[in-house]
Amino acid sequence: MNSRKEFYPDFYRNFKCAASRCPDTCCKDWDVVVDDEAYAFYSNVSGEFGDKLLNSIKIDEDGDRVFIFKNKHCPFLNRMRLCDIQIKLGEEHVCDTCREFPRISQDYTEFTEYMLSLACPEACRMIIAGDDIFDFSHITQIENDDNGYSKTFMNFLLKARGLTVKILSDNTKSFRSRLKHCIAFTEYVQMLIDDEIFDEDKICEYEYRDINVEKVNRRFVFDMHKDLDIMDNNWIEGVYAAKDCILNDTYETDREYTNMALYYIYRYYLNAIDNYDIITIAKRIYCAYIVCSSMTVALGAENEFDKRVMIIQKYSKEMEHSFENTEFFTVEFIDNTNFSSENIIKTL
Ligand code: SF4
Repeated sequence: MNSRKEFYPDFYRNFKCAASRCPDTCCKDWDVVVDDEAYAFYSNVSGEFGDKLLNSIKIDEDGDRVFIFKNKHCPFLNRMRLCDIQIKLGEEHVCDTCREFPRISQDYTEFTEYMLSLACPEACRMIIAGDDIFDFSHITQIENDDNGYSKTFMNFLLKARGLTVKILSDNTKSFRSRLKHCIAFTEYVQMLIDDEIFDEDKICEYEYRDINVEKVNRRFVFDMHKDLDIMDNNWIEGVYAAKDCILNDTYETDREYTNMALYYIYRYYLNAIDNYDIITIAKRIYCAYIVCSSMTVALGAENEFDKRVMIIQKYSKEMEHSFENTEFFTVEFIDNTNFSSENIIKTL
């Protein structure tokens, strides 16, 4: 019988919602989907609060039941920035969406990896601040053939992920230089995947040579962000205003961007078992780094940790939880030649 293995980073277990202290609550901007169980319960709540519950629900364009937001907030977020549903009905009766966020589980049949979303300010602070917070050594090989996907391909991906992590974690080099190496290596591994060469020895044959090339302007990254699905227009104006700012990286910012990059790798790399795409992840890390580091300069956050957390969290909130944006990135990275691996390496 197969035994499922579960892997939790330490910060996952230590996470505690900041509740009323949260600077950007998850009840803001995003739809809250009311799942069937919660809806059945709300339908039997009597009195004024029961009426408010049912009158606050509509069906959205996807056919989901969602709360009707007031001033971009969930109608049950009270003046103390606490949830009235939790206060009046108990934590067990909030919707699944609210109970689970920012917790994420990624199920690969033989094993499951758990993660927190960077879009939550408290989770972002924990992820960005920590040292050695990701341990990718928990799984390097799978054992079973009956997981519903190719064992050979998964072991190939685990090997490639391990080497990518090694490149990104090499703090004898600057983050910028590690990112160049990561993009070039990922391009090579993507080529093997495209040719269906799932040979772990081939991955190890890769040799990287950092060559000094004339720098290329990276304004196209900011131009592309203007076409994404954005919730906060002020935020995107701030992104564009930062287009000519370049951060002088420091030990702290290098460590923070390393953690951000490892978060993307941990969260998305193994999705390639279904979509055969790893290069999009490296390019999304690149975009996140370019935009967040430039905003750090534009907002004067070089010496302000809390501001840098807010910049990385807000970027994740705008970019990561939108199906449209995920699709857009994938297509743009193929169609727009500015985003070729060779060209983006020249901008770093
Ligand atoms: S975003 Fe995170 S810290 Fe803020 S209210 Fe939601 S779960 Fe809590």
